[in-house]
Amino acid sequence: MTRVAVIDRAFCKPDKCSLECIRFCPVNRSRKVKAIELSADGKHAVINENTCIGCGICVKKCPFNAISIVNLPDELEKFTVHRYGENMFKLYGLPPLTLGGILGVIGRNGSGKTTTVKILSGQLKPNLGNYANPPDWDKILRAFRGTEVNAYLQKLANGSLKTAVKPQYIEAARRVLKGSVRELLEKADERGLLKEVVEKTGISGIMGRDVRELSGGELQKLLVSAVLMKNADAYFFDEPFSYLDVRERVRVASAIREFLNPSKVYVMIVEHDLMILDYVSDYIAVLYGEPGVYGIASKPYGVRSGVNFYLEGYLPAENIRIRKEPIRFRISVADRSKHPEEYPILKWGNLWKAYPSSGFKLIVEEGEVHPGEVLGILGPNGIGKSTFISMLANVVKPDKGEVLVGTDKISYKPQEVSPSIFGFETVKDNLASASKDAVDPTTWLYDELTRRLGLNKMLDRNVRELSGGELQKLAVAVTLARDADVYLLDEPSAYLDVEERISVARLIRRIVEEKRKAAIVVEHDLLLQNYVSDKIMVFTGRPGVEGVALKPTDIRTGFNNLLKQLDITVRRDHETGRPRINKPGSYLDREQKSRGEYYLPD
Ligand code: ADP
Ligand code: ADP
Ligand code: SF4
Repeated sequence: MTRVAVIDRAFCKPDKCSLECIRFCPVNRSRKVKAIELSADGKHAVINENTCIGCGICVKKCPFNAISIVNLPDELEKFTVHRYGENMFKLYGLPPLTLGGILGVIGRNGSGKTTTVKILSGQLKPNLGNYANPPDWDKILRAFRGTEVNAYLQKLANGSLKTAVKPQYIEAARRVLKGSVRELLEKADERGLLKEVVEKTGISGIMGRDVRELSGGELQKLLVSAVLMKNADAYFFDEPFSYLDVRERVRVASAIREFLNPSKVYVMIVEHDLMILDYVSDYIAVLYGEPGVYGIASKPYGVRSGVNFYLEGYLPAENIRIRKEPIRFRISVADRSKHPEEYPILKWGNLWKAYPSSGFKLIVEEGEVHPGEVLGILGPNGIGKSTFISMLANVVKPDKGEVLVGTDKISYKPQEVSPSIFGFETVKDNLASASKDAVDPTTWLYDELTRRLGLNKMLDRNVRELSGGELQKLAVAVTLARDADVYLLDEPSAYLDVEERISVARLIRRIVEEKRKAAIVVEHDLLLQNYVSDKIMVFTGRPGVEGVALKPTDIRTGFNNLLKQLDITVRRDHETGRPRINKPGSYLDREQKSRGEYYLPD
């Protein structure tokens, strides 16, 4: 067995603990050698993986959960690709990036997807685990001889590959980019495709705008468009669909397929929206392991079976179980709306609102929401969702019609989440300010919310140290912990992996059912939207010009309405029951359209 010990330096605080990890280590106590000691500068502990016996005592002793130790088979060592440093994350194997098809990559957050993108795009030279004395390319290539990715690495090593990357976090791009959309795209346009690409991705109308004024979705489309216009040999898209609505997701996916020919250029996409990843990819590779500790790249699978194996939690070619339990989405289109014996929490008649200054008009059809219900909202940005909610909260007065039951007790999670949206420095203080129960381990709320989202392990951390996914989980937790009648969550899935998306969806349902309150969830991952909501409300029209908010309906009717507008049909996977987008013009696509059954026909 090989030991991999990881010490998270952001958590390990020797000046704030009694160093029980070092005192209680049986190797330290009984032998001349030490397994764990303080680093030379005294700032963190260091574990010697050769002398450590992997008993796990220090892991339990550490009050900050800073230590992880796993025992892995020795055979794996020869596949070591990269290690960031002593007691840091270790990556085994690289996904099989080859010509001939788009490679989709799925995996938990912290499993090494971005590290992989950095290595394959030439931003990070793999050190084969030898961080102290990094190998040269000859040695690296010898290590990959006989693997699928060998041909790719040879080209990368001899400098004959040009790569283009859409980075994961768009917020960082917002801070560094300057100028108008047109200026930025003209600079990126090495293929002379500016006009065609912006038409396809739907940003031709915002060419004059300054990049700092763009919404999350607009910025995402700008970044993807810029990458598509680059004249590269290998293209990488790290989570290209966050902040996009369903129509935009499909557009961006088809733009990638239209403007990149995977038999001539390498294309890799990392994404957690399984329905769209399934639609855009030809092959799937899974990154599995233990988040933050180690990651292993799987062999390539066909797209359908790859997603199914991931959900099942078992990879047959590797003969490895990657998760104890399969992920089962409750994908049912049966009418789940509750019987309205209880008084509604929200009820509105037909509403009409116009903003003379911008010329935007919104028409809302009547509807109601009951205690314990989740209302899913589907629709693009700028279509009037916030205006509708503001009318329910009595902040904006409708020009015509009436809100019959409204509330101003709305707890809101905005779409974009950054450290600045939080009022306090630490995770704990933010949770406590929302509800004392959220930080009291004896309560139901702590168990259901703080512990289930894994926030109990990072209570003392400063929000500035959190990753995008961790910030998202904290924002969802703080929103749900507050006392409110209606919980409004705008895209709670952004930057979360599949497992985290499911935990968040379950949590929203439990809190709403338990507190007998209502939630309104704007969510564009259709698998998740289907899973979390009881009713669906579709916003249609022309963003920025006119919005029509349709009456809340059951899921099948709502999804059918939306998909019909998008001219997309969705079938069930016959093995797992999960929804899959039909290829446009395929037999099933034509057949479902002819029957008007756009979503999961029986
Ligand atoms: P993913 O993209 O799958 O979420 P990443 O590749 O970003 O995963 O990160 C995998 C692990 O590597 C994480 O635990 C992260 O903290 C760690 N890591 C990433 N970059 C560095 C770095 N420069 N130094 C040390 N550790 C890093
Ligand atoms: P969404 O929440 O779906 O993104 P909003 O309700 O925020 O949509 O906005 C819909 C449209 O109304 C946008 O074009 C926006 O610019 C416009 N709008 C929103 N609030 C005002 C206002 N107070 N005055 C003028 N126009 C507004
Ligand atoms: Fe020591 Fe056990 Fe921790 Fe290894 S796992 S450093 S042997 S306490």
